[in-house]
Amino acid sequence: MTKNALEITNILEIKNIKRHYPVSSGILSLSKATVKAVNDISLEVRNGETLGLVGESGCGKSTLARLLTGLESPDAGSIFFKDKEFKNWDSAKIGTMMQMVFQDPYSSLNPRQKVGNIISEGMRIHKFGSRKEISARVEELLVQVGLRPEHAKRYPHEFSGGQRQRIAIARAIAMNPDLIVCDEPVSALDVSVQAQVLNLLKKIQKEFKLSYVFISHDLSVVSHISDRVAVMYLGKLMEIAPTETLYHNPLHPYTQVLLEAVPIADPTIKTVEASISGDMPSPISPPSGCPFHPRCLKAMDICKETPPVRKEVEPDHYVFCHLY
Ligand code: SF4
Repeated sequence: MTKNALEITNILEIKNIKRHYPVSSGILSLSKATVKAVNDISLEVRNGETLGLVGESGCGKSTLARLLTGLESPDAGSIFFKDKEFKNWDSAKIGTMMQMVFQDPYSSLNPRQKVGNIISEGMRIHKFGSRKEISARVEELLVQVGLRPEHAKRYPHEFSGGQRQRIAIARAIAMNPDLIVCDEPVSALDVSVQAQVLNLLKKIQKEFKLSYVFISHDLSVVSHISDRVAVMYLGKLMEIAPTETLYHNPLHPYTQVLLEAVPIADPTIKTVEASISGDMPSPISPPSGCPFHPRCLKAMDICKETPPVRKEVEPDHYVFCHLY
C-alpha cells in the first residue's frame, strides 16, 4: 500500500515505552536483576496499514504486543490511540478499539464454551444488541471468516487448527475494532493452512478497514502481509521501513543477517552477504551501546559505548546504526 505523506495518519503511536521485569537470581535468589523486555521503543502504526514486527524469540515482540493492547502497562513512556493517551482505559473501551489474535488456536479458545458463545462474549458483555441480533451477527461473522452458521453450536475441539484460528479472527472482529494485534497467528499452523489464514486476514482488513500489527519470527510470512516492517533485537528497534525497501535494501547488519537466514521466494530480492557471531546475549544484562555490538562483525569502538539513534537514511527508511 503506497500512501503519500498527506494521507498518512497514525492510529497508534508509542513514545519511548519501556517494560522491565524484576527477576531474582543467584544463591537463595538474593540478587535482584532486571529483564529489559522492551527498552525505549517509539513507533507508529498508520491508519489501514499492516506493520510487521520481526525478531528472534526473546527480542520482546510479544511483550510489546501486550503493551499495545493494554494487557500490560509500560513502566515508562506513552501510548496514544487516535491521538488520545491510552492510560487507565477500561477493558470495554479497549475492546472496541483493538483486539488480539494469539499464536495458539488450541489454548486461546475456551474448550468448554460453544463457538457461538466464544465469538459473542464481548458483544454480550457490552450489550451490542438483543440476543437475536447478536446471534444473527455471530452467524454472519462465521460466514465472513469462511465457516458455516451452524458451526456456532459446536465446541472448539471439533475444529482443525486453521478453523480455530478463523474462529479467533471472528471473535476479534466481532467488536468492530480499529486495530488487531496478531501475535504469531500462523506459526502453529501447517504451511498450506498458513496461506489461507493470511489471505483471510487480508480480506478482513479490506472489508473492516482495519490496521494490523503482525508479529512473527518468520520473515517470509511477514513479507506477504506487511506494508512496513520493524525489526527488533533485545528489546530495541533496529530498523523500520516499507516492506519492499527493507527486503531489497536491508541496511542494519542484524536485518541483513535475518534476511540471509530465511529464503524468500522472490528472485528480485538480492541476498546481502552477512555474518553473525555468538548467541543472543541475555536481556537481563543487555550490552551497552548498540545491543547488537557483541555479535556484529562491523562493530566499531563507538558501538560499545553509545546507543545509536534513529536515522532516516532514505525517505521512510529508519535505521539505528552508527554506520549511517
Ligand atoms: Fe554493528 Fe555498530 Fe551498527 Fe550496532 S551500531 S549494528 S554494532 S555497526
